[in-house]
Amino acid sequence: MKNKHYFLLVLVLSFSLGLSAQVKINPSLGFTLENKFARYVFEPLGMGLSAMFDLKTGYNHVDPVDGKHLLWKIVFGKGIMRPAIDNNYKPCSYGSLTKRPDGGQVLVLEWNDLRFWEEDSICSVKVTVELPENDGVAQWRISVSNHSDYWGLWEIACPAVNGFPAGGKYDIATPETGSGGYLIKNWKGSFKQRSPSGFFPMQFMSFNTKSNGVYFSSNDGESRAKDFFADSKTRELSLIRYPENMGVAGSDLPNYYPVSFGPYQGGWLEAAHRYRKWALKQVWTARGPISQRPDFPEKAVNVGFWVRDTWVWDIPPDEIKNTGDPHTWRRDERDPHEMNLPFLNAMKTMGVPIAFQWYGWHHVMFDNDYPHFLPALKGFRERVTELVDSGALIAPYINGLSADSKTYDWYKFDPHAIKDEAGGLHQHFYWDGAGRLTPMCPNQNFWHFSINNVVDSIINVYGANGIYMDEISCNSHELCFNPNHRHPLGGGRYWADGYRNMFRKTLNIAHQNGKKVVITSESANEIFFDLVTANLFTGRPTDYEIPMLQVVYSGYTLFYGTVCDFRKSDLLFNFCVGQGFIDGRQIGWMDFDLFRPQFKTKVEYLKNCARYRMATQKYLTFGRLWEPIVPDNDVPVFTEEFQGGGAHTGTAPSAEARLWQAEDGKIAIFIANYINEKVNFSYTIDPGKYGLEASNYQITEISPEGNNSVSQSGKTISRTEILEPNKVKVIEFAPIKESGLKINQIK
Ligand SMILES: [Zn+2]
Repeated sequence: MKNKHYFLLVLVLSFSLGLSAQVKINPSLGFTLENKFARYVFEPLGMGLSAMFDLKTGYNHVDPVDGKHLLWKIVFGKGIMRPAIDNNYKPCSYGSLTKRPDGGQVLVLEWNDLRFWEEDSICSVKVTVELPENDGVAQWRISVSNHSDYWGLWEIACPAVNGFPAGGKYDIATPETGSGGYLIKNWKGSFKQRSPSGFFPMQFMSFNTKSNGVYFSSNDGESRAKDFFADSKTRELSLIRYPENMGVAGSDLPNYYPVSFGPYQGGWLEAAHRYRKWALKQVWTARGPISQRPDFPEKAVNVGFWVRDTWVWDIPPDEIKNTGDPHTWRRDERDPHEMNLPFLNAMKTMGVPIAFQWYGWHHVMFDNDYPHFLPALKGFRERVTELVDSGALIAPYINGLSADSKTYDWYKFDPHAIKDEAGGLHQHFYWDGAGRLTPMCPNQNFWHFSINNVVDSIINVYGANGIYMDEISCNSHELCFNPNHRHPLGGGRYWADGYRNMFRKTLNIAHQNGKKVVITSESANEIFFDLVTANLFTGRPTDYEIPMLQVVYSGYTLFYGTVCDFRKSDLLFNFCVGQGFIDGRQIGWMDFDLFRPQFKTKVEYLKNCARYRMATQKYLTFGRLWEPIVPDNDVPVFTEEFQGGGAHTGTAPSAEARLWQAEDGKIAIFIANYINEKVNFSYTIDPGKYGLEASNYQITEISPEGNNSVSQSGKTISRTEILEPNKVKVIEFAPIKESGLKINQIK
């Protein structure tokens, strides 16, 4: 009692002095941390998270489990042994709650001087959970000190939660490889995805059941190695950190960054807007939006659509090209101009600038003898020069991440390769016929030098104005244990730092002497968005697709590619290209066979979208994608066999719309009709929601032919667009009285 009064006194005094007030808590009683939005319940002794309520609806996301609930897990390592402990190993030894003057609360939980494996007092764990006053999502931190003279740390998970997520209950939204993101309804399954990587290109995801959402994000601006883990069967979720010096006796984990985890109201879109606020403060967006970057190549912006192909583009009509089988790629040595004709003709008929990703230009077989790409096939320089002079963006392919361990001088590369904990190489099996491609350690200057030498030749000897560096953005931090590399073993940040350094050196070459060569890479990884100009989306069309990356990063980087098999239906093609267009991707990335007469209808759709793209750059390149527009009417749906996310039958709307905002504050609706019939699309929008407040709005249809005034509207805009078969439409809304224009900060 006495103590309680004393603490209350401290609390009162501290508040009156504007200081934080701290009270000790008794872990043997458990603890409940709550504000107006959320309630987190921690079990007695082990302090596992046993309930997590959204106080807006009373929804509890964490179910009871057999046994005790989790909060953290630590795996130690040495050799091949991986003994582990968690928060229930010993009772929590100290707890306190601090109330800050800003209304936030910080719960501190400590497990001090733990005896482990016959050693006294070797390990102490400290977890802090910070709950702000005006939000239900808490910030979770962990630090581990380890004094063992034998064990090193291997993995540290916090929050580690059990009893969540229940299978079949949640729609999950995740960032995906070469795609805007996936929304999987009533998700059941398990995944463990590495970050930083192109497999999980942003550090967040959401779980949503009706309006009840759970946000899960690591706020790590230094891009340290970690895994996002969730399993709906065992009902477990955790953020697993790979520390520096894994398995090295006495290695520690300092408290580097918080993980945001907790309930909120909304769906994947609200989660993406939440993440955007954080993402736009990181080093990879620090150069500002594209419009403000003098270093951003104009050539990358002025793209109507992309093509990707190999060396020969005019193969006979009876020959089926198989770009997927490099053994079949032809290597003709003919007149360079004649060989370029399919490209030059396409530029004429399409009437928009074309960007080209060029495979098979090098003398070595695809995926073999890397990085010995040079010299190029005969006539390459002449062909590149003619195409660049004609206004095209030419980005020859190289692989920037892997070397072939079967190549003749592998002995030079081997010391710089990533090695696993047993001394083996991280071999990847790509296809039968590929060399033994082996990821190199990005910490190694030798590798930077090897790749940038190739880049230098492609730009300065062969004259390309772009370069495609395969795999770097797509791959993940692979744990390197090579003791001679002068980086901490296993986890930490050297992988991200290494590739960022390599790209910086690439840019030094690419931007010399007034050149602005375009750098592109495979898939997307947010940590390179200030260094890579444009990011290739290789994902196939699917009803799972959501524009998650674009909602977060629109205006700050470029995404390109809407690749699909054009030998399949027009509808699938239109869906792929049309959705990519309204989502702000630069479309295309098919090969020149698309321009054969039998695909004329598809080319028309592509051309139409490409021409619209050129007319709407203020939105799709420089603006912000706010959200998909949910129609007020029933829009017909179609059913297709989709490949994206694994072969499955799915259903998607025949027409979809997105809301974009330009930097001048104006907003526009981009609508695409995928089917060969008219579709009515009704919608209601309130421009005030996007900071564009006015009493009246001018409504204008934007098209490649010019702009047409349509009508005017009051505060709330409610309209039905009649979409012509296989067509897209862009409608812009601008305030009529400029004096009434009030634009909030939109970036
Ligand atoms: Zn290494």
